[in-house]
Amino acid sequence: MAVDIVCGKEIAEKAMNATVGHVPAGAPEVDPSLGTKRFYQGEWYYFCSMACRQKFVALPDEYIAKSSG
Ligand SMILES: [Zn+2]
Repeated sequence: MAVDIVCGKEIAEKAMNATVGHVPAGAPEVDPSLGTKRFYQGEWYYFCSMACRQKFVALPDEYIAKSSG
């Protein structure tokens, strides 16, 4: 189970990926009701909503530093 790095919510990434299928890196076409993801510096990050994704995109290093520290 992936965790939303912004709000801490658990994300069912397998269900999410099954629904969206193969999405090229950076493509925003995902169902926001199931969550969304973003590829950044070699890793996929999962989010419960576009709002959390946008917060991460604005300050990715800050959220990564918080989650690893
Ligand atoms: Zn969230």
